[in-house]
Amino acid sequence: MKTLVWLGAGGCGGCSMSLLTAESPDCLTALAQAGIELVWHPSLSALSGTELLATLDAMEAGRQPLDILCIEGALLTAFAGQCQTLGGGEPLVARVARLARVAQCVVAVGGCAAFGGVGAADDAGIGGRGLQFDGDQPGGVLGAGFIARGGLPVVNIAGCPTHPGWVLDTLALLAAHALPASGLDSLQRPRFYADRLVHHGCPRNEFYEFKATAHALGQQGCLIEHLGCRGTQAHADCNIRPWHGGSSCLKGGFSCIDCTAPDFAAPHRQPLTTPKLAGLPTILPSDMPKAWFVALSALSKSATPARLRHNAQSDRLDIAPTPPTGKRR
Ligand code: SF4
Ligand code: SF4
Repeated sequence: MKTLVWLGAGGCGGCSMSLLTAESPDCLTALAQAGIELVWHPSLSALSGTELLATLDAMEAGRQPLDILCIEGALLTAFAGQCQTLGGGEPLVARVARLARVAQCVVAVGGCAAFGGVGAADDAGIGGRGLQFDGDQPGGVLGAGFIARGGLPVVNIAGCPTHPGWVLDTLALLAAHALPASGLDSLQRPRFYADRLVHHGCPRNEFYEFKATAHALGQQGCLIEHLGCRGTQAHADCNIRPWHGGSSCLKGGFSCIDCTAPDFAAPHRQPLTTPKLAGLPTILPSDMPKAWFVALSALSKSATPARLRHNAQSDRLDIAPTPPTGKRR
């Protein structure tokens, strides 16, 4: 069995709550099937604080193995780390740094642990930092050059919250030594979910193709032009791997806020607002030339079926597709 310790830092606990929604199987069964022993988790373990500290001491001293160290939440560095301590007033960030040195794998669970998240905002005043990134810049509390004993840098399971499948699949791959460095992207996110875009598999794709756009939440059209959907830039498989057995932000009627990106919580990000330059959304796929978008938009808008133009601004399917007419050849 591989041992796993999960510590909560400066976060809301949402990634843990999301983990508990894992289905088929549930998270504890999935961990057991992956050969992982959950030594400690703040919401799932009965072990007292004193016993936890003794366990962590034994791991640091090499008397007990630590295979996977998961951190949820940003490491808070303001006030010499004193706003976040673990046992005897020691800054949590110091304990995490020592444990990271002995762990085989280190995992940042969620955008806060990966990139600093909400706690890293300029006006937060708590000095939130990611394990190995400050925003999109390598560094963080462990330093840009950190490599865990198992040979990988910090694995950043970015998201806010993380999909339980992203977490459980990553842990299973790590336990099986089946996640090579090439399985991480440039932000150290597992590529099995980060090589996808949220746009892939979005149920609103037909509206996107014809630039039939929604003007208000609750309408069925594409949300990129007026309601700030970042699905064409967001690296995640949300519409291919549904949440809670079948949903996603888009299926729930909300725009994608690109919560797997390092700066998703930055003050300049305005959810539900489409940033534009010269009237053009700046949240197009990064590998799509803007001139092509202009040309294709004009062409597709001129060809938009009346059905799509109407349904895009309706909260229900008012007009169904018409069956083909005429003789078949
Ligand atoms: S831009 Fe957003 S709403 Fe439109 S199809 Fe893509 S993911 Fe869906
Ligand atoms: S659809 Fe976008 S905002 Fe929603 S969970 Fe996925 S990446 Fe985050």
